[in-house]
Amino acid sequence: MKKKAKIAALSAAGLLLAGNAVKAVRYRPIKEQAPSLPDENVNTERYIETLCEAIRCKTVSNTDETLTDWDEFEKLHKLFEKKYPLLHKTLSVRTVGKAGLIFTWQGTDETLKPIALIGHQDVVPVQEEKLADWTHPPFEGEIADGFIWGRGATDMKNHVVGVLESVETLLEEGFTPKRTVIICFGYNEELLDTEAAAAPLISKTLENEGVMLESVLDEGGAILELDVPHVIKNKVAGIGIAEKGYCDFEISVDAKGGHSSTPPKHSAVGELSKAVLDLENHQFPAKVTQEMKMIVETIARNTELPVRLIGCNARSLLSVFKPALASIPPVASVMRTTTAVTMTNGSPQANVLPQKATATVNFRIMPGNSIADVEKHIRRVIRNKDVKIKLLGGNEPSIVSPTDTSTMKAISAICCGLFDMGKPAPFVVMGATDARHYQNLTEQIYRFSPFVMSPEILMTAHGTDERIPIDCLENGVVFFKRYIRMLAGE
Ligand SMILES: [Zn+2]
Repeated sequence: MKKKAKIAALSAAGLLLAGNAVKAVRYRPIKEQAPSLPDENVNTERYIETLCEAIRCKTVSNTDETLTDWDEFEKLHKLFEKKYPLLHKTLSVRTVGKAGLIFTWQGTDETLKPIALIGHQDVVPVQEEKLADWTHPPFEGEIADGFIWGRGATDMKNHVVGVLESVETLLEEGFTPKRTVIICFGYNEELLDTEAAAAPLISKTLENEGVMLESVLDEGGAILELDVPHVIKNKVAGIGIAEKGYCDFEISVDAKGGHSSTPPKHSAVGELSKAVLDLENHQFPAKVTQEMKMIVETIARNTELPVRLIGCNARSLLSVFKPALASIPPVASVMRTTTAVTMTNGSPQANVLPQKATATVNFRIMPGNSIADVEKHIRRVIRNKDVKIKLLGGNEPSIVSPTDTSTMKAISAICCGLFDMGKPAPFVVMGATDARHYQNLTEQIYRFSPFVMSPEILMTAHGTDERIPIDCLENGVVFFKRYIRMLAGE
C-alpha cells in the first residue's frame, strides 16, 4: 500500500511537471493583431540633423524663471520653423506662457475629439563639476560611435523632434487627418512642483476653448532591449497608464532649548527621532497590483525556456513572495506608497539645545491613496501629541487610464508589428510627467516613447553621457506616423 501511494505521488508529480513544461513552452509573448499598415517613408537624415541642432539649444529650465535663458527656447522654435516649413504652413501654431507651443492640425470631421501628442522642450542642467566626465560635450549634439550625444537626446528632444518629423512627412505625402491632431510642448516639465508649470497652462487654454480630447500620448514608458545571457534576449515595453503622486510633510518637535551642559533626558531631536523611526518602521502596506502582475508576466513571457519553467507561474509566485519582494526597495516602490525621511534640522550650534527639531518626509503616493491618506497614516503611526505634522506641498496621484481603448490598442498593434515584439504591458510611472495635467481633457492618458534602447542607455537620461542610438530613430518616426494614421486617419 505504501509503495502504491509512493508510485501515485510520483506519477502525480511527474504529470504536474510535464504540465508545467507544456505551459512554459506555450508561455510566449502575446501579440496584438495589427491591421496591415503600409511601409512609411522617413527622412532620417533631416531627423538626425534636427535632433543634433535641437540639443545645441540649451533649453534648461530653472525654478527661478528669470534665470532661464528664453533665447534658447526661441532658437529651438526657429529651428522647428526652418526644418518643418509645411507643418508651420498647414497647422495653426501658437505660443502659450513663456515658450509653450500648441500646434493644431485641423481634421475634416469636427464631430471627432482630437488626439494630442505632448512633450517638453526643456532639459535638466549639467552640473559644472561633472562636465569633464562627458565623453562628448552635453550641448554640442555630436554624432559618434552610432549615437547622438547630449542633454535631451533621450529625454525628450528625440520624441519631440520625432513627432514633428512624422507630421512633416505625412504632410509631404498629402495626408489630411479626419480627426484633429493637437501637439503640445511645455517648457518646464523637469521642475518639480513649480507654480508656473507650463502643462496646466496649456491644458487650461484648450479647456477654455471647449476642447475635449480623445487621448493623450506623452513620454514615460519605453521599449527596452533586454539581453541577459540564458535568461532573456527580447524587447519588452511598458505603457504608463498612471503616475504616482508626491507630497512632503514636515514633522517637528518644540522644546525649551538651553545650554547643552544641562540636557533633558530627550532633546527635541531625540523626541523627533522616535517619530522618524515610527514612520520608517510602519510602512504603508505593500500590494501586488494588477499592473505589477502584468509587467512581470510580460517580462516572464519573454524569458528563455529553462527560466520560463518558473516564469510561467509568475502571477502566483508574486503573491507567494510578496513579503520578500516588499523588502527590496526598488520593487517595494511599485508596491506601496513610499516613505523617505530626507531632511532634518536641529540646533544651529553644537553647544545649544534645539528649540525646535524638524524632519522633512517625502512620500510617493500610489494611485488609490491620497495626500489625506498619507496625513492619516502619519498621525496613526506617530502617537505623540508633541510632534507637529504639517503638509508642505504635493500633488495627488494621477487617475488610472483605461486599458481597453482604441489608443492603447493602436500603440500595442504598432509595436507588435513594427518592433517584432509582444504587447507592451500597462504600468504605473514612478516619476512625474506633464501628462497628469491633461486629466481635465480626457481619461485616456498614455505615457510611451517608441524608441528601442538598452536599459543602460535609457539610464543616461538626466545623467552623464546622455545619448541615443541612431538606429532607433527611424522606427520612432514610423511609430508616430502610424499612430496618427490609425487614430486620426480615414
Ligand atoms: Zn522627460
